[in-house]
Amino acid sequence: MQQNEMRLEFDSRSCNEGFVRVAVAAFMTQLNPTLEEVADVKTAVSEAVTNAIIHGYEGAVKKVAVECRITGQTLEVKVKDTGKGIEDIQRAMEPLFTTKAECDRAGMGFAFMEAFMDTLKVESEVGKGTCVTMTRQIGRENKFER
Ligand code: ATP
Ligand code: MG
Repeated sequence: MQQNEMRLEFDSRSCNEGFVRVAVAAFMTQLNPTLEEVADVKTAVSEAVTNAIIHGYEGAVKKVAVECRITGQTLEVKVKDTGKGIEDIQRAMEPLFTTKAECDRAGMGFAFMEAFMDTLKVESEVGKGTCVTMTRQIGRENKFER
């Protein structure tokens, strides 16, 4: 099956979040996505990148990497940081769970990634960093129809 890959590395500044989601959106246009598919992927990417910036690095300026791979009609997006990591991944992924309630976070980022993508995998090690891998098959009317 045909594959195509790209990788972006950028500073963990919130002003880069908009640029990254547009870059991923541009990369996926080769799959002829619907506007809704593009919007869904952009939302998921922006949640994962925001998490890397605010939770992973907590304001420190370090590198975030976004890797995209297209295989057939499937888009895979990885968002990686080498920040503080997640203690309890299962708990972190529960809707409404947040460790930054004081900063007005809703604890809905992972729930959105799960809802807008077909698959979501979170790997993390405390003190080493976090890798979020998401996939979405593009070119289907309804993602629940297989
Ligand atoms: P919201 O996304 O609604 O603004 P939130 O970021 O707290 O709130 P989630 O995105 O669901 O909610 O993340 C849940 C929790 O998982 C975070 O509060 C944080 O503790 C942890 N977390 C998520 N991503 C990372 C990361 N890259 N590095 C370290 N911790 C993370
Ligand atoms: Mg979040």
